[in-house]
Amino acid sequence: MATHRTLNRAIPAPLVSDGDGVQIHRAFPNHDLSEFDPFLLLDHMGPMDLKPGEAKGFPDHPHRGFETVTYLLSGEFEHRDSFGHHGVLKAGDVQWMTAGSGLVHSEVPSRNLVQNGGKLEGFQLWVNLPKRDKMKAPRYQERDAAHIPTATGEGVEIKVIAGDSLGVNGAVETHIPIQYLHFKMADGAKHIQEVPHSLNSMIYVISGGLMLGGGFIPKYHLAVLNNDADTVEFTASGETQILLLSAEPIHEPVARYGPFVMNTKEELAQAFEDYRAGRMGTISVSR
Ligand code: FE
Repeated sequence: MATHRTLNRAIPAPLVSDGDGVQIHRAFPNHDLSEFDPFLLLDHMGPMDLKPGEAKGFPDHPHRGFETVTYLLSGEFEHRDSFGHHGVLKAGDVQWMTAGSGLVHSEVPSRNLVQNGGKLEGFQLWVNLPKRDKMKAPRYQERDAAHIPTATGEGVEIKVIAGDSLGVNGAVETHIPIQYLHFKMADGAKHIQEVPHSLNSMIYVISGGLMLGGGFIPKYHLAVLNNDADTVEFTASGETQILLLSAEPIHEPVARYGPFVMNTKEELAQAFEDYRAGRMGTISVSR
């Protein structure tokens, strides 16, 4: 075991376009990293300065077999699903959606953002579900900014979305042990975070830069950590924001295609069939 976790590698999050044309830094999947058990995808939307009429989103699409976690830093996103769920996420809000057995949803900028333009930045993380939970009924955990617990250290502020930091417990319940921590750090601030070595752990640098294990990780990069200690030590280089994401790996086969993540090809085929047959529902509202 090392004193603190060491860096396995740092990979860039290339700029891609998805949905209706949303600009995204996609940390993975990409040719460097296809998944990081149990994490399946990490998108950094923006940061963008949108002119009126420019805001784009993700119109109706299905999901089954995993969770999508949306966390907004700025802007407004509106969500609807085939079960009649509707809500608007604002800056600092998080929506932890367990797609489970399946639903159809849309994630689009709010009318306000489309009409008036403005800043948009946020994240979407996909978290796999263990086989036993894949077909659970869909569930939402929505927490507005004011209800996300904050931990503070010297020059460090931590939004504890899941897991815990400095004795502060997170805002959501998870199916497996998960830490979802958003750090805002002053230049030169140092933090030591407990992350039990059984958890797979990674750091995404949103802005600024991070010194970790003698290496430097610039913004729009993902640092994959080794499972060789129970703590991570890092220091901000300039004003810095990061996401520290850790979770117990599931170690089950992954059969994945587009919006469905199951364990076998047969289950994937079934997901497509259920979607086509309308068994995940449809969104029927006038917008
Ligand atoms: Fe989605």
